[in-house]
Amino acid sequence: MIPMVDLKGQYLTIKEEVDNGILETLDNTRFILGPNVQAFEKEAAEYLGVKHAVSCASGTDALHLALLAAGIKAGDEVITSPFTFIATAEAIRYVGAKPVYVDIKPDTFNIDPDLIENAITDKTTAILPVHIFGQPAQMQAIMAIASKHNLKVIEDCAQSFGAEINGKMTGAIGLAGCHSFFPSKNLGCYGDGGMVTTNDDEIAEQLRILRNHGSSRQYHHDIIGYNSRLDEIQAVVLRIKLKRITDYNNGRRNAAHLYSKLLKDFVTPPHEDGIGTHIYHQYTVLTDKRDAIQEVLKEHDISSAVYYPIPLHKQKVFANECQGISLPVTEETARRCLSLPIFPELSNEQVNTIVAAIKTAF
Ligand SMILES: *Cc1c(COP(=O)(O)O)cnc(C)c1O
Repeated sequence: MIPMVDLKGQYLTIKEEVDNGILETLDNTRFILGPNVQAFEKEAAEYLGVKHAVSCASGTDALHLALLAAGIKAGDEVITSPFTFIATAEAIRYVGAKPVYVDIKPDTFNIDPDLIENAITDKTTAILPVHIFGQPAQMQAIMAIASKHNLKVIEDCAQSFGAEINGKMTGAIGLAGCHSFFPSKNLGCYGDGGMVTTNDDEIAEQLRILRNHGSSRQYHHDIIGYNSRLDEIQAVVLRIKLKRITDYNNGRRNAAHLYSKLLKDFVTPPHEDGIGTHIYHQYTVLTDKRDAIQEVLKEHDISSAVYYPIPLHKQKVFANECQGISLPVTEETARRCLSLPIFPELSNEQVNTIVAAIKTAF
């Protein structure tokens, strides 16, 4: 059996360190905003090359809190990608703003910067690019548009921890970067977790208050905040994995490159745009034989998945407000995309097994 991601296999390689770290926390009982959370924030900020990293309870919360801290409010429009996980749009709706979807590029699946200006209205206050599947969106172009129109840029880095573009890490470019530590993400913990990165002192201060009941001093509450903190036990796991994240991401890249070499005559492999580093949160191909490939993979006990079968503008929850919206590249991609198992420990032998199985569909 080959899973989409082998969390158990990875755990076994770091078991002793993880077990000891968790036991230490059980022993010292500093469960909320303890020493590991503080240390992790410092180490993550250093790794990503940002001034501040403020952890929180999930990637969804990271997006929500970042939008709040950036002052995005009811009635605003936020330009984003329709080809992403629902959380991107949910967070925009949490602050009362409206997601405005701009079509993606057919090769990278990232928001197409050439189409953004057309979507800007006098209500637009932010652009929320998603670095989908681990390949950075074209940030240089996006930042230029944002600066021309005086818009804020909030990056969705849930799938791109450690991906670089133009010499910077994702999450270090816009006003804020929103990270998820959901277990299957490139940097994942053993439960839910998230973080916002920023170089802006005021935004960082706002985030620290927002995640902790609107309070910067215990039992003094200045605004309505939230209970959204990274768990100390999760911070223990994240510190251990952060030390290895470069290797983990390189492991994914190596597996991806072998896949692409072996699969290129059968499917359209993922395209690396050469601007940013693709860290392959997902290895996603395009194919007209998706059902047939999934069928043979299943017969061989190999997992596969469709990210994402329904673009956000076609979701039931947005059916009313998105009536008549046509985003042809996104819709075509949703029909033809297929994600194969990818994780740092995926061996050449496993890639060969998966490719051999896929070939039987042709
Ligand atoms: C996973 C993910 C999120 C949400 O992160 P959670 O930690 O699960 O809340 C947001 N955006 C994208 C693109 C994601 O993949």
